[in-house]
Amino acid sequence: MHQETIRRQGYVDAHCHVWEFSLFNRFASLEKCANLEELVETLKSCLINGWAVGVRFNQESLVEKIIPERAFLDRAFGTTPVVIVRTCLHVVAANTAAMQRLGFFAENGLFYEAKVFNLLKTLVARLNLEPRDVLSQGLRELKKLGFVQVIDMGMDRQKLPFFEGLDEGVKVDFYTVDLGLLDDALGFKVFLDGGLGARTAALTEEYADDPGNYGLLNHSDAGLLSLVERVHRKGKPIAAHAIGDRAVDQFLRVVRQSRHPLDRLEHVQYAREDQLEALAELKIPVCIQPVFSREMSWAVRRLGPERMQTAYAWGLMRDKGIRLLAGSDAPVDHPDPREAAAAVAPLKGGHHLDFEEVLDLFARANREFYLGNCLSR
Ligand SMILES: [Zn+2]
Repeated sequence: MHQETIRRQGYVDAHCHVWEFSLFNRFASLEKCANLEELVETLKSCLINGWAVGVRFNQESLVEKIIPERAFLDRAFGTTPVVIVRTCLHVVAANTAAMQRLGFFAENGLFYEAKVFNLLKTLVARLNLEPRDVLSQGLRELKKLGFVQVIDMGMDRQKLPFFEGLDEGVKVDFYTVDLGLLDDALGFKVFLDGGLGARTAALTEEYADDPGNYGLLNHSDAGLLSLVERVHRKGKPIAAHAIGDRAVDQFLRVVRQSRHPLDRLEHVQYAREDQLEALAELKIPVCIQPVFSREMSWAVRRLGPERMQTAYAWGLMRDKGIRLLAGSDAPVDHPDPREAAAAVAPLKGGHHLDFEEVLDLFARANREFYLGNCLSR
């Protein structure tokens, strides 16, 4: 294969969050902080309009293993407003000064799920950031990494105007979470479950480190089927977020009843072998995040060693005949395909993909799927 030629045509990120990636580029990255003291220093050295805002925070990387709460942040930052966003985007921590300015309040300073997005929206307004400047800069970053096209997986009515008329040499297409935008979208994004970090990914067997917890499915089968049918009637495919095997089972039950040829499955961090075979047989493409292989060090605590054999098993998926696409899920993780390739190349067995193979997914596989199919809307 002429890898260089393929790569020179540029990469396509089949799953990312362009606005959030661009926004987070403006904030302090906390991913290298080894303890709370370093975290405070990093935040203080990188104020933006008087605010300390940190992203890519993960308590698993701190020796203390805790999310700093309001009392701690008040002591460390006083009247400087501070906001810390966890790497998964599902948790935010703030101090009193930040909560007062933002008009949000939680006793311990912690906010979860939908509140995170509302809080970030307010934060952007308070920081006087110009969304289109933020976005232009983010797109230029992606271009520098070699991207020619990115597929945003969470477009809504609030973000869409930021993108209109922007041209930084990177084509932006999107899946939407808003049925009202479906006509302009490649398809509809639906979340079947949560994530392994928060133990909300839906599993058929309980969490190894949380007996009795099987995670959560967001939809009933009937509710999901009627949603999927609605999207399919509009002639659009779905892209379904499924991280645990119970979510994959639900997806399989539903697409056996309603199907668009371009329906996609996202993430599939843990699936059983029988499911991988079913996905191959049904010709369902799976959009993997090779860079997530870095999670294996802690995911083994959630799943136990047995299930880990077919978790993050990108090589096994390929061997079973599944059509693979690749995404970064930035800003959840880094967008650079070379980082993704470096994360999986040293792994063994079903967890392994060659370095070049990963780059080829970002360059050739994603492009073929999107040039050949979805862009003919
Ligand atoms: Zn995503």
